[in-house]
Amino acid sequence: MTTLKIHRPADGTLIEEIVAHDAAHVDAVAQRLRTAQVEWVRIGAKGRAAWIKRYRKWLFDNATRLIEIAMEEGGRVRNEPTLETTLIPEIIDYYLRVTPALLEPRPVRGSSPLTFGKRYTVHRSAFPLVGVIGAWNFPLLLTLGDAIPALLAGSAVALKPSEVNPRVVIEAVRGWREDIGAPPVLDVLLGGGEVGSALVDAADYIQFTGSVATGRRVAVRAAENLIPVSLELGGKDPLIVLAGADIARAANCAVYGGFANNGQVCMGFERVYVHESVYDEFVDRVVTKVRQLRSGVDDHSDVGALIHPPQLQIVDRQVRDAVDKGARILTGGNRIDRPGNWFEPTVLVDVDHSMAVMREETFGPVLPIVRVADADEAIRLANDSEFGLSASVFAATVAEGKRVADRLDTGAVSIDDFVANMVCADVPQGGWKKSGVGSRLSETGLLKFTHTKVVAANWIPTLDNDVFWFPYTPARRAVFGAAARLIQGRGSGRFGL
Ligand code: NDP
Repeated sequence: MTTLKIHRPADGTLIEEIVAHDAAHVDAVAQRLRTAQVEWVRIGAKGRAAWIKRYRKWLFDNATRLIEIAMEEGGRVRNEPTLETTLIPEIIDYYLRVTPALLEPRPVRGSSPLTFGKRYTVHRSAFPLVGVIGAWNFPLLLTLGDAIPALLAGSAVALKPSEVNPRVVIEAVRGWREDIGAPPVLDVLLGGGEVGSALVDAADYIQFTGSVATGRRVAVRAAENLIPVSLELGGKDPLIVLAGADIARAANCAVYGGFANNGQVCMGFERVYVHESVYDEFVDRVVTKVRQLRSGVDDHSDVGALIHPPQLQIVDRQVRDAVDKGARILTGGNRIDRPGNWFEPTVLVDVDHSMAVMREETFGPVLPIVRVADADEAIRLANDSEFGLSASVFAATVAEGKRVADRLDTGAVSIDDFVANMVCADVPQGGWKKSGVGSRLSETGLLKFTHTKVVAANWIPTLDNDVFWFPYTPARRAVFGAAARLIQGRGSGRFGL
């Protein structure tokens, strides 16, 4: 029997040991979910919405407990899981509003003469079983945030949270099943990569959030199984600060975007490019503010612990590599000498793209800042990355910010802000390059959990044998050939058509 040992990142002590599942259990759960999904489809969009509304109430009533579980097992300060329990109801409300229209069969009138006499309807059917493989940085948002649209679409959902902090997801699923007594179309699978991998084999659609390496493995496995996937694989998001920008706001935003959730945010700032005319003022303000950040997990703290020792090692390695290659540490730069996974909030300058801290995802409390000569250099460097998730721009005017945004190779750009797109469920969120494939939220965040079925019917009386069906006699071929020539030739100036 394998167990998951869940530790407090803040001091390294054990919270609890949880029995892990195996591949046979994954198959059994998948089978149960598929069976329950038949009835879930039958109750229709209204019936499903009624359960999701009840769940929304449960999430509100139980937010404090969920937040405290997430704080303890994630080493996080209260504000960060509070963001999750705030965004999830917004996602629910958005999908409750748009789902009925999205799932309504859509009549289509064909535009080709070949469709004469026919009517088409595009129907949407949910994939029976959606697997959601989540990451540890926002455990609720990165599981429920995708499960909600999948459930509303009519799928059953198996959640596979990270093995390092699955307790908050276990509690969220318990609430669905036990407290509100909802249909058994939502379940949780516990374990590491082997359980995630078994889920990829069992599901009809996989929504994955995590690293590029694991995302690639998931995509390969999904390709072998010929099932669709959506992958959110992190980023190396740049912040650009240009002359004439509001430097006080830009600096405050840089510190928030770089150190929120201890830097363990896929869209967190991991590179900052600042115009030389405002560089000194910007750096001074950032360093002053970062020195004031309080590391801890009580309600007087700003920056929590790193999730687990491997993450601490990544951060430490990248900072050492940068310093070895000539970077200067303006504040921080070291592990904090106390039990748990602690690293000082760190600001680096004199960095360049030969350093791991400028190329690899850091996912920690490190903000490297680069001086640039102009907007062109900032844009060139911002685009010099294998990632393309999101970015922010502070410029003299919104119009200038938009011009810069046009030239950035990312899935989203916030002007004078940090991840402004994330609070809007109406717009898609996703990256390109190695930041992923597909997107979540917006209409596509639900439609991707469905496949289409087109129903075509004749609305005028039909012959007992169409002219281009068998037999291929010369007379029938002549009629069909003449009609085909007329259709092909239209618009070409032939036949006066
Ligand atoms: P992983 O990509 O390994 O894990 C993400 C999820 O995938 C977890 O639930 C994990 O389970 C699961 N998983 C692992 N192996 C497989 C597999 N073969 N098939 C299916 N699922 C699998 O991320 P890590 O936790 O190892 O973090 C590594 C790096 O990834 C971080 O340093 C950070 O750079 C990046 N990251 C990016 C995130 C983002 O928001 N895009 C979120 C988290 C990390 P388990 O945890 O149990 O192994």
